[in-house]
Amino acid sequence: MTNLKTITSLAKRRGFFFPSSTIYGGLANVWDYGPLGVELARNIKNLWWKFFIHQEDNMFGFDAAILMNPQVWVASGHTTSFNDPLVECQSCHKRLRADHLIEDQLKIKVEGLDPQELDKIIQENHLKCPFCGGDKFTPTRKFNLLFKTYIGPVEDNKHQVYLRGETAQGMFVNFLNILNTFSPSLPFGIGQIGKAFRNEITPGNFIFRLIEFNQMEIEYFVPPKEWKKYYQMWEEKIEKWMKMLKVKKSHWRWRQHSKEELSHYSKLTKDTEYLYPFGFKELYGLAYRTDFDLRNHSQQSGQDLRYTDPQTREKFFPHVIEPSFGLERTVLMLLLEHYVEDKENSRVYLDLPPYLAPYTVGVFPLVKNKPKLVQLSKKIYNQLKENFPTTWDNNGNIGKRYRRQDEIGTPYTITVDYQSLEDHTVTIRERNSMKQERLEIVQLVNYLKTKVEGQK
Ligand code: ATP
Repeated sequence: MTNLKTITSLAKRRGFFFPSSTIYGGLANVWDYGPLGVELARNIKNLWWKFFIHQEDNMFGFDAAILMNPQVWVASGHTTSFNDPLVECQSCHKRLRADHLIEDQLKIKVEGLDPQELDKIIQENHLKCPFCGGDKFTPTRKFNLLFKTYIGPVEDNKHQVYLRGETAQGMFVNFLNILNTFSPSLPFGIGQIGKAFRNEITPGNFIFRLIEFNQMEIEYFVPPKEWKKYYQMWEEKIEKWMKMLKVKKSHWRWRQHSKEELSHYSKLTKDTEYLYPFGFKELYGLAYRTDFDLRNHSQQSGQDLRYTDPQTREKFFPHVIEPSFGLERTVLMLLLEHYVEDKENSRVYLDLPPYLAPYTVGVFPLVKNKPKLVQLSKKIYNQLKENFPTTWDNNGNIGKRYRRQDEIGTPYTITVDYQSLEDHTVTIRERNSMKQERLEIVQLVNYLKTKVEGQK
C-alpha cells in the first residue's frame, strides 16, 4: 500500500500540487494544482465528459454559476440539514468532527447519529483528542458547512449568498430551462463539472478532504416507477469507469449507507469506496434522490417543475439518480494506485494509462550541448506536440531525464542521438518495461497514436 506521505511529497516535488499561497505559509486544506496536476485533472475531466456526457444518450452538459439565489439552498434543505457534528477539545481547543473522532478510534460507523448519542459514545469510551490526548470535549453541536458571503457593500442577511456546497442544485434549478429548450423525453440527464465549497471541520489527508474542490455530477431524471432499473444502470457505468482508470478490483468496493447515515435528500445511497492509506473511504456517491429536489424547488419558487408524459399527458415529478464524482479524490486515488517502486532498477514510476498521463511523450537530445542534436530533437518535439501533450528536456544526463519522466508517468520517451542525424531514426523507450526500440522519425506519430488508442 502506497504511503500518503510518499505521494504528497512526489506531488509537491514534481509540480502536481502546491499548498495554496505557499509564500504566506499556505492556507490549511487548500491546494493549488501545479502544471502536472492540472494536466492530469484535465485528462480525467475530458475522459469523464466523453464517457458520461457525449457517449450517453439524452445527456445535457451544463455549467451553472457558483453563486445562486439563496432561496435555492433553503429549498434544497442545505441551510437546515447540511451539518456536521462538531466538538471542541477543552484542553487544546482544536475542533473535531465528533463522528470522525469515534470512527477513527473505535472503527465503527456513526454518521447520522444525533449529537446526544455521539456524546454518549465519546464519554463511555473515554475517547482522547488526537492532538493533545485530552479527554474532555464540549457537547456536540451541529455546524453548517455552507460558506457565506455577501453581494454588494452591505453585509446583512438580505445580501447574504452562499458558495455552492454541491454542483447538483445548479442543475435542478435549470431543469425547466432544459425542458423548455430541448423538450427531452425521460430518461434524460444533466451533467456538469465545477467547484464546490464546504466548510469542513476535519479536513486533511492531502487532497482527500478539501474545503474547495471539484465535483463531476449528473442528475439523471427517470420515470418514478423505473428508478431501480436506472440505479443499476449507473452502478454498471461506474464499474466501467473504474476499469477505464485501471483501478484494481480488490482496491475498491461498494458500500450501502445505513438508514441513519443517508443524506437528507436520499432514499438509497451506495458509495464507491477506495482503499486509501487511511482505510476504505468514500470516493464517489450514487444517490437515489427521489423527487425531493424538484418538488421542493417547485414549492419554494412557485414554478411548476413537473414533466408531462408525451403519450398520456400525465404530469408528474421525475425521480432522480445522482452519480457524484469528486475530482481530487480521483486524482489522489490515481497517484496512489499507479505508484510503483521498481527496486531492481532503483526507480519509481507512475503506471498511469497513456490517456491520463500529464505528458504522453518526452523528447530529449542525447547530450545537451550538441546543437545538431538539440535542433533535431526540437523539430521532433514541435511535430509531436501537434498531436500529444509533449515535453522536451535537456536537463542533467539522459538517465536522470528518464527517471524524471518515469516518476511523473510519461509512458514514452524519445532520444535523439548521433545515428539519428545520419539515418533519421530515434530510440523510443516504454516506461514500464524500459524496452527501447529504434523507429524512423516519420513513423512516430502513428506509432504513438496506435499505442495510446490500444490501451483504452
Ligand atoms: P464525506 O462523507 O467524505 O464527507 P460526502 O458524502 O459528504 O463525503 P457527497 O456530498 O456525496 O460527499 O459529495 C459527492 C462527492 O464529492 C464525494 O463522493 C467526494 O468524491 C466529493 N467530495 C465531497 N466532499 C469533499 C471534500 N471535502 N473534499 C474533496 N472531495 C469531496
